[in-house]
Amino acid sequence: MRLLADLHTHTIASGHAYSTLTENVCAAAAHGLELIAITDHGPTVPQGAHPWYFWNLSAAPSVLDGIRVLKGCEANLSADSENGIDLPDFVLQNLDLVAVGFHPTTGFDQQDRARNTEALLRAMGNPNVDMVTHPGNDHEFPLDLEAVVRAAVRHCVILELNDHSFAPTSARAGSAAREREFAAAARDAGAPVAIGSDAHYALHVGRFEAALAAAEELGFAQEDLVNRDAASVLAFLTGKRERPMLDAGGEWTWPSTGSGRS
Ligand SMILES: [Zn+2]
Ligand SMILES: [Zn+2]
Repeated sequence: MRLLADLHTHTIASGHAYSTLTENVCAAAAHGLELIAITDHGPTVPQGAHPWYFWNLSAAPSVLDGIRVLKGCEANLSADSENGIDLPDFVLQNLDLVAVGFHPTTGFDQQDRARNTEALLRAMGNPNVDMVTHPGNDHEFPLDLEAVVRAAVRHCVILELNDHSFAPTSARAGSAAREREFAAAARDAGAPVAIGSDAHYALHVGRFEAALAAAEELGFAQEDLVNRDAASVLAFLTGKRERPMLDAGGEWTWPSTGSGRS
């Protein structure tokens, strides 16, 4: 099985990643991918990107080096914001792919499974949210698996199988087994699943061998994964809400306004 899209990558804008957007896209091209999503950390993570960074992502190209570039985020759950996410809805609406995930120092912890689950279910009910990153990080942010999977089916939100969670050097080392449980439960329930690299350096873009091996062991077929290629990703996203569409000339058209952005 080979996957041609990576929906989870970080750049220097995340504050603790080490490549630029351009370097990530070039790495995706060199690795034979068709599509990459740039999903920098939301502002609650120390040195995470400012909302203006996400708001202005339309300044970056949507096609570069033959690669379709989705402008996205990996936002944080937030106990303090109006929408329960650390980026406002008017920013999320402007992005091609909105991921949310739990991270240290953002107001949630390992103590309260019910509180974590409630916050995540609320975010998943936000029509702007497309994906939950590394849901299996049970030792830091425990979640009610069945409730999250039900919400993923109901709201058509991707549950990510995160390759970085399988790395022994990962801050989430030890969560691989739970990642597998989430993926299997999601697949069995009919929830969308994608594998993400969570690259924090360009050479890791499109590298998800460990998660892919886990998916194959669990019996996933290529068509069970949203990120099998650019077409499958774009079909999923445009089916979920109005999205900018890439026309044959390589220009994005925004359905709600009819205006083109590059
Ligand atoms: Zn993350
Ligand atoms: Zn990440």
